[in-house]
Amino acid sequence: MALSDSPISFDNTEFAFEYKSDAALRKARFLFSLMSYPWLVALGTRLTPWAIRVGLPIKGLLRKTLFAQFVGGETLESTQAVAASLRSYGVQVILDYGVEGKEGEENFDNAVQEFSRVIDHAAVASIPFMSIKVTGFARFGLLEALHQLMLSQPGTILDRYQAMLNQLDPSVKGEWQKVYDRVLHLCTRAAEQRVGVAIDAEESWIQEPIDALAMQMMERFNTDRPVVYNTIQLYRHDRYQFLQDCAALSSSKNYLLAIKLVRGAYMEKERKRALENDYDSPIHANKQAVDRDYDQALRFCVDRLERMALIVASHNEHSNLLATELMIQKGQPLHHPHIHWSQLYGMSDNITFNLSKAGASVSKYLPFGPIEDVIPYLMRRAQENTSVKGQTGRELGLIQKELDRRRHSA
Ligand SMILES: Cc1cc2nc3c(=O)[nH]c(=O)nc-3n(C[C@H](O)[C@H](O)[C@H](O)COP(=O)(O)OP(=O)(O)OC[C@H]3O[C@@H](n4cnc5c(N)ncnc54)[C@H](O)[C@@H]3O)c2cc1C
Repeated sequence: MALSDSPISFDNTEFAFEYKSDAALRKARFLFSLMSYPWLVALGTRLTPWAIRVGLPIKGLLRKTLFAQFVGGETLESTQAVAASLRSYGVQVILDYGVEGKEGEENFDNAVQEFSRVIDHAAVASIPFMSIKVTGFARFGLLEALHQLMLSQPGTILDRYQAMLNQLDPSVKGEWQKVYDRVLHLCTRAAEQRVGVAIDAEESWIQEPIDALAMQMMERFNTDRPVVYNTIQLYRHDRYQFLQDCAALSSSKNYLLAIKLVRGAYMEKERKRALENDYDSPIHANKQAVDRDYDQALRFCVDRLERMALIVASHNEHSNLLATELMIQKGQPLHHPHIHWSQLYGMSDNITFNLSKAGASVSKYLPFGPIEDVIPYLMRRAQENTSVKGQTGRELGLIQKELDRRRHSA
C-alpha cells in the first residue's frame, strides 16, 4: 500500500521476511490459515486456558505454534536470540514480561523484581523500551474501586485523583501506596539507565488510576527527555479529547507528554460488559470513527513533537504511512528521537521491516514469560487475527507472495 506521494511502500515482502527461513514462513502460513476459522479460534480460546489449568498436555503444541509466532521465549535470556536477529535488520524490541492475571502482594513484588531485571538487561543490550501493565502490580478490584471513585469527581485527571485519595480509608490508601511505590521504583530505575517505560492501557473500567499514575510519572521523569509513556486507546470515543487534555496539562506543568497511540485490544469485552450492565459502550460505534480519531491523534502529536513524544503502535498500513508522510512533510527525519513505530512480534512484518529500510526508528513489541502465564496474551492475539477484518488475509497473502517470489528466484 502507498499513500499518494509517499516514497515508502509496505509491499516489499523480500525485506519483510528476510529474517525468516522457508520453513518458518510455511509454519506461519499454516498458523494464520488456522486462525482464519473463527469457530476454531472461539473453541481454542475457551478450551486452552481450561486445558492448561487442569494440566492437559497441550503445552508442547502451544510452544510450537502460537507461542513461537507471538512470544520471544519463556525467560528474559531466551529473548536474546530473537532480539539479536531483529537488530541485524535495524529493528529494535520493546520487552514485555507478559505475565497476566497473577494477583497477590507476593506476585506483585516478584513482578517488580522481574521487571527490574528487564530494565537492567535492556540497558546493557541497548533496548530502548520496556512495557508494563499496572495490573501486574495492583489488585484488579482495587483499580476498579479507585476508578469508580475518580469518575465521580470533577476536574482534570489529577484533580480527580487527588479528590479520590482524600476519600480513601487508611488500609486502601496503604495498598495503593504500595502500587505507586512499585511503579515509581521501576520508572526511577529505567530513568537512571536511560530505558523508556511504556505503560499499557487496559480495560476502561480500571483506566482512571492508571492514567493518573502515568501522568505523575511523566511529570517527574519527562523533564528533559521522554522516559515514561502512557497509552491512549483511540477505539474509545472519549480519548481524543483526553489526549488534548493531557497535552494541556503537560504544557502547564512543563514536561514532555509521551504517548503510545493504539486502537485498543479489548473491544469485545468492553462491549459485552456495557451490554450486560446496561451502560453506554465506551467504544466507538464503528471502525471508521476509530480510524478517524487515530489519524487525528497522529496529526495532533506530530504537530507537537517539540513538546511531545509518540509511539505509533499499530498494524494499520494507512496510519503507519500517514505518520511517515507527516514527518516527511515537516522535513523531519524518521529517526527523530520523539517518534517511534512498533508492531507486535509475529504480526505485520511488512510494515516493520519496510519502515526500518526507510530509516525509521521501529521495533517489535516482544513479550516473554512461562507459557501458562502468557495465555491471556496469546488468546488476544488469536482473537485479534480472526476478528480484525482483513488482518489474517493480509498476513496470509504476504506470506504466500514471498514464498512464490522465493520459488521463482531459486
Ligand atoms: C506496540 C503495541 C503496543 C500495544 N499496546 C496496547 C495497549 O497498551 N493497550 C491496548 O489495548 N492495546 C495495545 N495494543 C494492541 C492494539 O490495540 C491492537 O493491536 C490494535 O487495536 C489493532 O489495531 P491496529 O491499529 O493494528 O489497526 P486495525 O487492524 O486497522 O484495527 C483493528 C482495531 O480497530 C478496532 N475496531 C475494529 N473493528 C471495530 C468496530 N467495528 N468498531 C470499533 N472499533 C473497531 C479495534 O480496536 C481493533 O483491534 C498494542 C499494539 C502494539 C502494536
